[in-house]
Amino acid sequence: MQTQNYLNGQWVGGGEPIDVVNPATGESIAKVASVSREQVRKALDDSQAAFEGWRSLPAKARADYLLAIADNLNKRSDEVARLMTMENGKPLGQSKGEVAGSVDHLRWFAEECRRAYGRIIPNQVAGKRHLVIKSPVGVVGAIAPWNFPLILSVRKVAPAMAAGCPTILKPASQTPLCNIAFAECVHDAKLPKGVFQLINGSASMIGDELLKNPICKKITFTGSTEVGKKLIQGAAHDVKKLSLELGGHAPVIVFDDADLDRAVRGVLDAKFRNTGQSCIAANRIYVQAGIYDRFVAAFVEKTKALKTGNGLEDEQDVGPVVNEKGLQFALDQIKDAKKRGAKVLAGGKRQGNKGFFLEPTVLGEVPDDACCMIEETFAPVAPIVKFRTEDEAIKKANNSPFGLSAYAFTTNLDRMFRVAEKLEAGTIGINDGVPSTSNAPFGGMKQSGWGRELGSEGLESFLETKHVSIGVVE
Ligand code: NAP
Repeated sequence: MQTQNYLNGQWVGGGEPIDVVNPATGESIAKVASVSREQVRKALDDSQAAFEGWRSLPAKARADYLLAIADNLNKRSDEVARLMTMENGKPLGQSKGEVAGSVDHLRWFAEECRRAYGRIIPNQVAGKRHLVIKSPVGVVGAIAPWNFPLILSVRKVAPAMAAGCPTILKPASQTPLCNIAFAECVHDAKLPKGVFQLINGSASMIGDELLKNPICKKITFTGSTEVGKKLIQGAAHDVKKLSLELGGHAPVIVFDDADLDRAVRGVLDAKFRNTGQSCIAANRIYVQAGIYDRFVAAFVEKTKALKTGNGLEDEQDVGPVVNEKGLQFALDQIKDAKKRGAKVLAGGKRQGNKGFFLEPTVLGEVPDDACCMIEETFAPVAPIVKFRTEDEAIKKANNSPFGLSAYAFTTNLDRMFRVAEKLEAGTIGINDGVPSTSNAPFGGMKQSGWGRELGSEGLESFLETKHVSIGVVE
């Protein structure tokens, strides 16, 4: 496959190659060309040149291009999923699920772009007409992380292109390969050149050029809160538009009245899917006193039964952590929790001596001041805490600067609504450990970000709203 950058409809070489490492083996699997600053500038010029033609196409024509990309990706789903597992580590079944979700995002935005409606507002002054019309924001720079390396790129690129915005995608350096495969699918769909471009390379250089170059009208970013804050600072100078999907620290509340099996299954999904490396991963598990012992016993038993290994091998549940740094960070959190009195109920150690595997870990009696209750973990570590009242649980759940997602397990209908209304998070799963879907908005409150992706909001994010006031013509 290609290992070059996709610039203005062509595959182009570059400078210092990026080494792509398989986290299951620690071995290098590919070298990918990086772009120079001049190439980023040229990419922005070429995007600008493509803008007028692309925005002027009927929405249906843009939709057809997106559908063609979706079909191409769908046809290559097994191969792209294998690439994803090799560069990211996630079990193959989960990679296949991510490719299928990416195809669905493309199809959703192909449909949604035909509904970029404006409106006509009743007048205040006799004879005047007030129209609200939508237009694309212009050239977009999209920066994506490694943890869901394809779907998080697609949920930026698809709505931006649907809205009429040429888009330049910069994937994470850990996971360029499935994004290159995506660029091949775009190429095969014969999009006009310059509408989609893919650049790999120095994050700080690319970020700086996107921030400072006036052609780039919007940056859409998914990644850490730390980098998000840098982008906010950089964007201040020219008041550049930003969408930010940042870190999370999701609380889970399991109430006494929960369906035990459903709660255990849901928390396992929310915690161990993607090896715990999800922005909406369950990070703090609060369990009510009446169900605590039964929940912990069942959850520990199921956690111990999870298969951990190379994601390419048969039916693994959990893969490696992305790199040595991520693994050490999680081991430090476990050590810190133990020092503060937590009990290791499952796992707790590095697994094997090849790659970056951590045994799926459950910690009980974790104090509120343990690091894992304060910082995002990004690894298969599940800290459990006992609570007594609903108010106490809500207070603990909301006691965080992050507000991306939150979960609650209960069979009490009244409580479902009450808790959903009180939890401070952009996505709330009630009896649902996997709440994200193409057709509903996704994004964070507090330091988890600005704006929403997916749903109709996902398209809106790449549209300007204009009011046109038409006076009386005598
Ligand atoms: P990261 O270090 O912030 O990197 C994310 C992306 O930003 C990568 O493409 C990275 O490039 C790039 N980047 C790094 N420094 C930059 C800079 N100065 N200017 C512009 N771009 C820069 O985050 P990560 O470790 O990949 O991802 C994990 C984090 O993302 C977690 O905090 C997680 O919660 C968050 N996340 C949030 C969501 C959400 O929807 N809210 C979803 C997934 C992940 P390089 O790879 O080349 O360094």
